[in-house]
Amino acid sequence: MESLLSFQELDSEVVSPLLKRISSNWEKWTTTEDRDAMTAAMMDLGELKQRHIYFQLLYTRCYHRISDPKRIRGDAEDQQILTELQEVAEQIPQYQKQIQRFFELVLDVDQAGRDPQKQAWSNYLYNEPKDPGLFKFRPIPVSFEPTEEGRCSPVLYSGRILDMIDYSLRSCVERQITVRRCKHCGRWFPQMVRVSAEYCERPVAEGEQVCREIGAFQKWTKKQSDDPVFKIYRREYKKRFARIKAGEINDDDFKLWSKKARAEKKKCDSGSITLEEFQQWLKDSK
Ligand SMILES: [Zn+2]
Repeated sequence: MESLLSFQELDSEVVSPLLKRISSNWEKWTTTEDRDAMTAAMMDLGELKQRHIYFQLLYTRCYHRISDPKRIRGDAEDQQILTELQEVAEQIPQYQKQIQRFFELVLDVDQAGRDPQKQAWSNYLYNEPKDPGLFKFRPIPVSFEPTEEGRCSPVLYSGRILDMIDYSLRSCVERQITVRRCKHCGRWFPQMVRVSAEYCERPVAEGEQVCREIGAFQKWTKKQSDDPVFKIYRREYKKRFARIKAGEINDDDFKLWSKKARAEKKKCDSGSITLEEFQQWLKDSK
């Protein structure tokens, strides 16, 4: 799922020119056996594979191809790789838009609703999307085999990027995985069944905090600063704490007081005494 999410966020202005250069070098190599062109293509692919796991699969496919002793120059596999490179270079922005449209209309809990199956059902007629911007599913090579202890699942047998997108999207619908935009970073993140989080836990740059941690902290501080019960309790607590330091009251008395004060605060939080009554209690308490 993370690979699909990060794919639709890739900067196509950076990735597309690289892919175009790779495909023209690949074409050169497969037609003239120019080894420099092949080396250049592999170097660029090496850089691409750092950017996304889908490109890693493309790299592996090309690597197997160039090191295959039985390869016949310009045969079907050479051609298929070239077609894939050209198509991906050309269509990355379109793939990204189609994924995003699929999120909006089918998977996004806030925009589409909680039931991806129902949304998918109403957005397609046979395999044809009713919205022209929506992703179009095609037949993909899928097998079926044991994947984890005690369980068999469909397994994709393809190195094509479009097939991987296709497979990820249909798996989300089948497994009822929805997405939501994070309240902090604005990126989409997956929502597993019956979980409703507002902040994502998606990978961030090294040294940065995950949105969910930031979100939890902001919520806590906001709640505390908005809460009048907590404020008056905090004020009294600080006052008394200062008095221990000054030696005016002893530690045990302070502990006893704070235990009672917390119990009163709880009563106030739950509504069994009013804010005024709590304030009065604090004033009168010794
Ligand atoms: Zn986030």
